[in-house]
Amino acid sequence: MYIVLLGAPGAGKGTQAAIISQKTGLTHIASGDLFRQAVQKGTELGKLVKSYMDKGMLAPDEVTIKVIMERLAEPDCVKGCIFDGFPRTLDQAKALDKTLKEQKKGIDKAVFIDVPDEELVKRLGGRWTCKNCQAVYHEVASPPKVAGKCDKCGGELYQRPDDNEVTIRERLKVYFTQTTPVLDYYKKEGKLIAVDGKLSIDEVADKVVRILEV
Ligand code: AMP
Repeated sequence: MYIVLLGAPGAGKGTQAAIISQKTGLTHIASGDLFRQAVQKGTELGKLVKSYMDKGMLAPDEVTIKVIMERLAEPDCVKGCIFDGFPRTLDQAKALDKTLKEQKKGIDKAVFIDVPDEELVKRLGGRWTCKNCQAVYHEVASPPKVAGKCDKCGGELYQRPDDNEVTIRERLKVYFTQTTPVLDYYKKEGKLIAVDGKLSIDEVADKVVRILEV
């Protein structure tokens, strides 16, 4: 089963993908995490994507598609995966379909986590991410048990450099112009299902798991 999780930055894609991956055994592929790892390691890819990430802009399609297709070719993706943060443009969605089609596979469902704009800004501003396992916390809505430490692995929590107000606004702008057409793309294919992202983390996860069971 191949699932795409859609939603604006701050909608909870990463949090939900991690829970759903655990519940279903599907591999979680997060484009943003792959890019942040490359930045951390200082690879050529990392150097290239950093400038885009810092500005809240999308990395070029050609680069992004290559990174994701290489990840998709790994053995843990044979039975399926959950894409988080990808596709973010129409060309990315088409490239993903093409690759899966070549393997006689396809996207089964595109789940859109729907959260109002003003809530997104609040969420991103208070977000803390684990340096080690990428788990996500919020200082008010879902704080860690010990401040600054990840509940799951004890790793250090940090605020992503692109979670500042100026970059958040740019990321939302980019989302509305470049990524919302992807929603229509999956809608036309009859694969889009919306979930109310204002519900609690567990409620959203339950709804998504039930959608995937159908
Ligand atoms: P995220 O962790 O999903 O919020 O992604 C962080 C940043 O990585 C984005 O603001 C982009 O700069 C870059 N990025 C992640 N996924 C993509 C994608 N599918 N296409 C282009 N750029 C991406």
